[in-house]
Amino acid sequence: MDFEAYFKSALDGLHTEGRYRVFADLERHRGNFPRATRHTADGAKEVTVWCSNDYLGMGQHPKVIEAMKNAIDHCGAGAGGTRNISGTNHHHVVLERELADLHGKEAALIFTSGYVSNWAALGTLGAKIPGLIIFSDAMNHASMIEGIRHAKCDKVIWKHNDVADLEAKLAAADPKAPKLIAFESVYSMDGDIAPIKEICDLADKYGAMTYLDEVHAVGMYGPRGGGIAEREGLMDRLTVIEGTLGKAFGVMGGYIAASTALCDFIRSFASGFIFTTALPPALAAGAVASIQHLKVSQFERARHQDRVRKLRALLDQRGIPHMPNPSHIVPVLVGDAAKCKWISDLLLDNCGVYVQPINYPTVPKKTERLRITPTPLHSDADIAHLVEALHSLWSRCALARHVA
Ligand SMILES: *Cc1c(COP(=O)(O)O)cnc(C)c1O
Repeated sequence: MDFEAYFKSALDGLHTEGRYRVFADLERHRGNFPRATRHTADGAKEVTVWCSNDYLGMGQHPKVIEAMKNAIDHCGAGAGGTRNISGTNHHHVVLERELADLHGKEAALIFTSGYVSNWAALGTLGAKIPGLIIFSDAMNHASMIEGIRHAKCDKVIWKHNDVADLEAKLAAADPKAPKLIAFESVYSMDGDIAPIKEICDLADKYGAMTYLDEVHAVGMYGPRGGGIAEREGLMDRLTVIEGTLGKAFGVMGGYIAASTALCDFIRSFASGFIFTTALPPALAAGAVASIQHLKVSQFERARHQDRVRKLRALLDQRGIPHMPNPSHIVPVLVGDAAKCKWISDLLLDNCGVYVQPINYPTVPKKTERLRITPTPLHSDADIAHLVEALHSLWSRCALARHVA
């Protein structure tokens, strides 16, 4: 086989379908979020980042940076092993305690990413609990889908956020089979939020465990940043809460928080936990500083919501359509893959605004969008500049406006 030709033709396919991904080559500036330098063949340019998942700018927070530097000074660069073989650093232990406390659980277990935490936890639960059926929301993240697939257990997909459909499917399953309901709180592309209480009620009624991915909510919702379940007083009703340290907490890594026995079970059986080098101690230390800060500081959360409201209000003034939702994610609908990419390119090249286009298969065709994520560090002037740039491109592109 001509392997090179095969690789190239597969890539050509992506190009023709308009789905080939191009990464912006950015250099973030310490303490100057959301500004970054973008490197191109024609040189370097300053841009304002409008699509970061560092939702609160904690990746540039002085406390987080200081904690990471201190940890490097004290512990060096890497963890030096898997958790089992010399890699458990005291910073990991402290981080797991911090996370258990954040979610009001007995224990927590950290992984090298949120992706790995979902893959390993769901994969292990599904593979090891005899006869387990996993009821998975249709819009669940790829990491949950891959975990469930890897488990090779029975799975039932229920309609997105539809409790009637979930109940019908729970009722149709073998009453004696052990069950787990897997879902997210804030869904990242539409920014909608799951009916967590109703889902927990169904879990009680049908004797199911619940597994909630709060990746897009931890740090940002709830009085201590525990997520939507904290805000709604529901943390104790969830069997497993999964989160990331890479989005609002600004560093990297993933975790689950649950009972001591469940965390110990995953620790003891999950290949994706056991056979991989532990996070660098400095990452764990940075995460602890970030979590501790957001447990007490309301400033970032309040300012974040204020920026979201401000952006939505200016978009409305200009009639630029954005999907309504109760979260911090502002999806501006373009509805056409080529135009979406074109607008994003012009924003980046001509306006110093970086918003990655979101096209199929991440979202359904005809719902191509710019997924805008305002942060506490975007100024009034940044917001005005973004909306005026969109306004002029909307006219050039003859895109539909929304009539207020
Ligand atoms: C980003 C994401 C993850 C993965 O988290 P990482 O820490 O980035 O690996 C898991 N679930 C959802 C819903 C996500 O959007």
